[in-house]
Amino acid sequence: MGLPVSGYAFAPCSQPSVPVLGRSSTFPVHRIYCVGRNFSEHAREMGAEVPRGSPVFFMKPADAIVTGSVVPYPSATDDLHHEVELVVALGRDAHGIVAAQDALSLVFGYAVGLDLTRRDLQAQAKEKRLPWDTSKGFDASAPISAIVPAEVSGHDFDRRLWLRVNDKLRQQSSLTDMVFSVPDIIHELSRLFALRAGDLVFMGTPAGVAALHRGDRFSAGVDGLVEFSGEVAA
Ligand code: MN
Repeated sequence: MGLPVSGYAFAPCSQPSVPVLGRSSTFPVHRIYCVGRNFSEHAREMGAEVPRGSPVFFMKPADAIVTGSVVPYPSATDDLHHEVELVVALGRDAHGIVAAQDALSLVFGYAVGLDLTRRDLQAQAKEKRLPWDTSKGFDASAPISAIVPAEVSGHDFDRRLWLRVNDKLRQQSSLTDMVFSVPDIIHELSRLFALRAGDLVFMGTPAGVAALHRGDRFSAGVDGLVEFSGEVAA
């Protein structure tokens, strides 16, 4: 009877990963960064100032991603909201601060995702000036499409981002309307965090956020890039 000398006390959780379009390998998720208030029309609808200076960041856990088509309705909310967003997937580590003009070299590819939000809990947190973790970083709060490799898609942001719920258009905007561009955001994040291959960045949502109910069907996409669909569990 010897003492154990190595190994985990119990089996670690499995590595969250996202399918990559056209490849058999998947994208292993390290962290999920999210940008707040990156479209001025959405900032206004949330009663916020159009941001100047630094972007707003928050995070979700890596295992918040949903790659299947059924999204569970979360506990502890009566006001689940959709926020459709471009997602940037990083395929290289940053070594210190990344200049905006070098930032796209870190990009592995692009996807579209939903930054699901417990809007009632977020409103309470804002009122009390408390953190957003319970309103943003909950389980299954990040449904995401397959990732399109940048070597296939290029870095073209003159594309329309959209979301339909039960076949009605809810949100749409050109990606050129983002306040902070993808290179800007990668630069700003690299000042604050050690960016790694496997990081995802949800780039913020345009106007039109609204409730998702049990049984709702959604489809989301970026024209000419990728789309995905699913439903909220009944
Ligand atoms: Mn968002």
